Amino acid sequence: MKLATYTTDGSESRLGFLHNNTIVDMEDFGEISNFPLPNDMLELIDMGFEVIAEITDLIENTSREDLEEVSYALDVITLLAPIQKPRKNIIGIGLNYTEHVAESARTLDTTGKLPQKPIIFSKPPTTVTGPNTEVLLNTKLTQQLDYEVELAVIMAKKGKYISPENALDYVFGYSIINDISARDCRREGQWIVSKGQDTFAPMGPYLVTKDEIENPHNVNLSLKLNGVEKQNSNTKLLLFNVNALIEDLSTVFTLEAGDIIATGTPAGVGAGQNPQEWMKDGDVMEATVEGIGTLINTVRAI
Ligand code: MG
Repeated sequence: MKLATYTTDGSESRLGFLHNNTIVDMEDFGEISNFPLPNDMLELIDMGFEVIAEITDLIENTSREDLEEVSYALDVITLLAPIQKPRKNIIGIGLNYTEHVAESARTLDTTGKLPQKPIIFSKPPTTVTGPNTEVLLNTKLTQQLDYEVELAVIMAKKGKYISPENALDYVFGYSIINDISARDCRREGQWIVSKGQDTFAPMGPYLVTKDEIENPHNVNLSLKLNGVEKQNSNTKLLLFNVNALIEDLSTVFTLEAGDIIATGTPAGVGAGQNPQEWMKDGDVMEATVEGIGTLINTVRAI
């Protein structure tokens, strides 16, 4: 199921799902199905992953006419970030594709050695922005704005010391995050100023439930800048895969329902180009992950 957070009028955010190329409103669908459903992504996740099978059954038992009553054409709604306000920082993973480790060592302050454990950083909830919004290039802070397409993992439930064998049981679904990075804002190896500025985590367009992604370790991901392909890889090349990341992260801190892990970016970032390429006002990024969609954002200099 492709879940969406959306608005019809620009003020109230609503929860829905994609069906027959329309967005069915989740709360209204619950009402016509006599099965109360929430109006918020995190509240839906809190119901447990089993709710997805129940909703799927209900859809099958609902007539097309009844579904149309509670749905909107895609061109009359605006998609928002699937989780607009995460309950805690997004967990980011650095240097998690071999080629990106190599390009970073050529041009940034990293060593080029493959990490022996995941490199963990975080992005505050205020980094989140939706599809088709502006990513702010704050010229007071940076002249080196960069893009990073990533598979994002959304957790389904609380866990500590999760074994890699059971890790996917704790996953609710997947989305796309463009891990925007200001390369000249690292401070003595600390990445949060580089990664944590407002609008630095475009997310969406959908949260795809895990049953729709047969194998999260064989998913193509790519990014175009102004129509030119810059990144193109596959999650099979992750150094630490989703299972290993969940094992490691849950050893450090308790993972909870709705937590978001941005799993790292492949090669092809602007910092790795020769000469280096930094984004400027008006640049358009298209981040695509197979099975999820394409997340489009524009750079706006302030
Ligand atoms: Mg990244």
